[in-house]
Amino acid sequence: MTRSLPPEVSAAQFDRALAGWRAIVGEPHVVTSADGLAAYLDPFAPGEASEFSASAALLPASVDEIRAVLRIANEFRIPLWTVSTGRNFAYGGAAPRLSGSVVLDLQRMNRIIEVNETLAYALVEPGVSYFDLYAHLRDKGYRLWVDPPAAGWGSVVGNTLERGFGYTDYGDHAATQCGMEVVLANGDVLRTGMGGIDIGTAWQLYRPGYGPSFDAMFMQSNYGIVTKLGVWLMPTPPAYLLGEIQFQHETDLDAIVEILRPLRLDDTIRNNAVIEGGLRRAAGLSARSPWYEGTGAMPESAVTAMLKKLGVGRWNLHFALYGAPELIDARYAIVQRAFARVPQAKFSATRYTGDAQPVAGGDRNLAGVPAMSAFRMLDWRGGAGAHVDFAPVCPASGRDALRQYTMIKTRAAEYGFDYYGGFTAGVRHLHHIFAAIFDRDDAYQLEQAGELLRSLMSDARAAGYGQYRAHLAYMDFAAAQYGFNDGALLRLSETIKDALDPNGILAPGKQGIWPEKWRDRRGYT
Ligand code: ADP
Repeated sequence: MTRSLPPEVSAAQFDRALAGWRAIVGEPHVVTSADGLAAYLDPFAPGEASEFSASAALLPASVDEIRAVLRIANEFRIPLWTVSTGRNFAYGGAAPRLSGSVVLDLQRMNRIIEVNETLAYALVEPGVSYFDLYAHLRDKGYRLWVDPPAAGWGSVVGNTLERGFGYTDYGDHAATQCGMEVVLANGDVLRTGMGGIDIGTAWQLYRPGYGPSFDAMFMQSNYGIVTKLGVWLMPTPPAYLLGEIQFQHETDLDAIVEILRPLRLDDTIRNNAVIEGGLRRAAGLSARSPWYEGTGAMPESAVTAMLKKLGVGRWNLHFALYGAPELIDARYAIVQRAFARVPQAKFSATRYTGDAQPVAGGDRNLAGVPAMSAFRMLDWRGGAGAHVDFAPVCPASGRDALRQYTMIKTRAAEYGFDYYGGFTAGVRHLHHIFAAIFDRDDAYQLEQAGELLRSLMSDARAAGYGQYRAHLAYMDFAAAQYGFNDGALLRLSETIKDALDPNGILAPGKQGIWPEKWRDRRGYT
């Protein structure tokens, strides 16, 4: 196998850079072997994984080491791709957008720097996973919850920077972040907001600080390396209720969204309630083969029979109510009254005291307990299960939800995929998440998954919808959808990029933002 090099860097130059990096982070923390680098390939690549491959990986242990690493990257103009734990599966894993980039893997920086129970926050380094933070809070007896995303092994920093979400009242991770420490491409280290005060006392309490506020600028961008991040935590509630409402008809989606929106707007339901499609709910209980063995999307008759047998609705609304039992009862009565308008809606609810934990994986997320429930889906089609996600933002209107659902389901069936999806409810919008599940060992399915994603993006663009997150392969395409005034938004992003990172060394191409040096690499794959 030929050795992979950073773009436009000779083998001799790369050797000099590597020698410099070894002196900084230590020999064992510079990965160059083919085996070692395989861990940085995208395990779910909807195409050739080698299209996005690293030439090396560096695992620094401190901010000072990162700054020293940057000096060398700037000297040799070698692009770095930062990951915290690198488990951004379905969007690229730890792999870089620009092949030949060196992955800056921050998993060794894994200290939980502070937990403040009274003010309900934590300050963590990039390598801290949701499992780690959860275990720490339990061990020390803090009465605080984490808000885990579907896969608990990912990092708090990585998930928050990508604007991931969970399921409790603290489910909007970008909104519950407060204060960052960031290393810029030139090695400067800054602290955002109140962190700008040297002996500060409110870094994790008041995000804006004084003057312009920059935290959001480091999310889904390539402007800096985040080395510390503050996150607000939910105080353990006295009690909570986990509710499910099953709906029997596809077209009920319209009514569900129309009824849910006012309940989210007036705070009766405060968590990111999920409207889960029947097939996705079923995939948590069973594989596909007992219900349908054919190729192509499952026919309607087979889906209906499966849902009936498994006792699953066409749509299944999952929500949670946290707080004092009297308030939970009052809010639940309002929820029941509202949804009883939908014919044949079936209600179920379980009540817990704040310290009790549900047994089932998905429910545990709603109780602040990280799990790996997200991986059950990989067994749906059998073989080497993988998925790639299409995630358009949907206005919280029944009409839009039904329109997106119909559009995606129809297109997916054309390419032989089931509608495996659902809507996670913000307040005025829904995150519509569809996953094309495929067997990586099946070349045809793999190719079709890629084709489907491209079609879906064109459909979305024509209908005026945009994605909230995209796989490496589609980042440019997704960014191009935000094309108002001949792409003024991306022009601004790239103007800032060039000012902060003139050598173009930090994550070129991330979110479609290319530094001047690599702008010719933009490609709508
Ligand atoms: P996970 O927490 O799921 O393992 P990753 O570590 O893969 O997430 O991070 C997801 C993405 O977020 C990365 O591809 C990178 O673009 C960005 N990112 C992660 N950590 C940092 C960081 N510390 N500084 C800047 N960007 C980061």
